[in-house]
Amino acid sequence: MSDDLDPDDWSAFRASSHQALDRMIDFLQTTRERPVWRDAPAEVRQKFCAPLPRGPRAFADALNDFEANIKPYAVGNTHPLFMGWVHGAGTPVGMIAEMLAAGLNANCGGRNHIGIAVERQIAQWAAELFEFPQSASGIFVTGSSAANFLGLLVARDAAMGHEIRRTGFSASGEQLIAYASAEAHGCVAQAMELAGVGSAHLRSIPVDSAGAMRVDLLQAAIDDDLSAGLSPFLVVGTAGTVNTGAIDPLQSLALTATKYGLWFHVDGAFGALAALSPSLRPKLSGVELADSIALDFHKWAHVPYDAGFLLVRDGQMHRGTFANAAAYLQRAPRGLAAGEVWPCDLGPDLSRGFRALKTWFTFQVHGADKIGRAIEANCENARHLAESLARSNVFELRAAVSLNIVCFALKAGWRDEANEALVIDLQERGVAAPSMTHLSGRPVIRAAIVNHRTKRADVDDFVAALHESAARITP
Ligand SMILES: *Cc1c(COP(=O)(O)O)cnc(C)c1O
Repeated sequence: MSDDLDPDDWSAFRASSHQALDRMIDFLQTTRERPVWRDAPAEVRQKFCAPLPRGPRAFADALNDFEANIKPYAVGNTHPLFMGWVHGAGTPVGMIAEMLAAGLNANCGGRNHIGIAVERQIAQWAAELFEFPQSASGIFVTGSSAANFLGLLVARDAAMGHEIRRTGFSASGEQLIAYASAEAHGCVAQAMELAGVGSAHLRSIPVDSAGAMRVDLLQAAIDDDLSAGLSPFLVVGTAGTVNTGAIDPLQSLALTATKYGLWFHVDGAFGALAALSPSLRPKLSGVELADSIALDFHKWAHVPYDAGFLLVRDGQMHRGTFANAAAYLQRAPRGLAAGEVWPCDLGPDLSRGFRALKTWFTFQVHGADKIGRAIEANCENARHLAESLARSNVFELRAAVSLNIVCFALKAGWRDEANEALVIDLQERGVAAPSMTHLSGRPVIRAAIVNHRTKRADVDDFVAALHESAARITP
């Protein structure tokens, strides 16, 4: 046996690998024949409490373990009746792209290799989609939680100057204030905490009946903070709230931000990609005026996890927020250390994977239009679900349907807690996986239709399953 980590027997490795690939393709092809989700039994979980393996084991043997003990107990978001949370469904093409990226094992922090050009290509596509200038910069991150955080740091530098990186906040004596709607994702408040600005300095602006930010109240809050001697710096608009899919009035937010000289960031984690659909694009009107946009290719573009992205209009400001003069990052005129800009100049990560490749493959093979149509179909199916529930004598709608998310609950006569019991029953029976959230302080059932595999007939099956589960639980 050799001391390196390559296979001792390449042909055995090749055979096992082909088999693993075939099994995975079978798995994707037959997704809808299996339960959406199964809880892993205790004896399976026990297998993942083992000590560090000191010796080798046949690859084929480990693959069998994967087949038996990992594959059947995944989240379930490949299944067309998975409607819990906003999870992308993945695609077979994305899966292969991920494997090819792993084969290259490119480190996309920087240096002069083609991976950097592929990532730059995605940034150019994003700029094109959102009508940003080609001088805009973009970077892959884990997800929108990270992208919102980085966007906030760029906004901080735009307000305070890059010197803030060195001095920190105490030197300035100013108190920065940010604004987002009461329905903004929790990662926005967390970004304030991570940045050291503090979540107490994020103003939570009330929303209207559709769940969108009240611009009059935003303006009033900014005026109040200015009179109190504070320093407003950032307005965060949400394009597709996680609870109901509501879209803030982005155009008015942009005008307000401009009027007060504030950075305008859009959290478009899933909703921003509705821009791929010409019929949905008008709902996002104003997104093209943002200073920065956070979005997830792993949600509505179904790129395999993870593929979050930050797009920044002012590429210089973006770079100035993160670039680092360390000796080992020095650029050469030619050779492997040549080239500008490196992704490590645009965020905190140095070693980073080739997320751009699976995104590139996804758009190459499917085309932006088809992904846009899948997004439209999700929104049509959400309306179909809402109409079916509105006719039901068991359920009632609890929020307007802006995009693809339907919030509903059991009608009067049922306990509030029965909703969660019903969701758990659906999940444990493996027939469907909606999730729970709270609206106006009350629990509601939430169906987020994100999966490109979800058809109208699946929505009908879901409605039938809801009524079946309602008959199985105590009112
Ligand atoms: C999903 C989501 C996030 C968080 O994104 P991650 O990719 O999970 O980190 C932020 N905001 C909104 C509106 C989301 O839907």
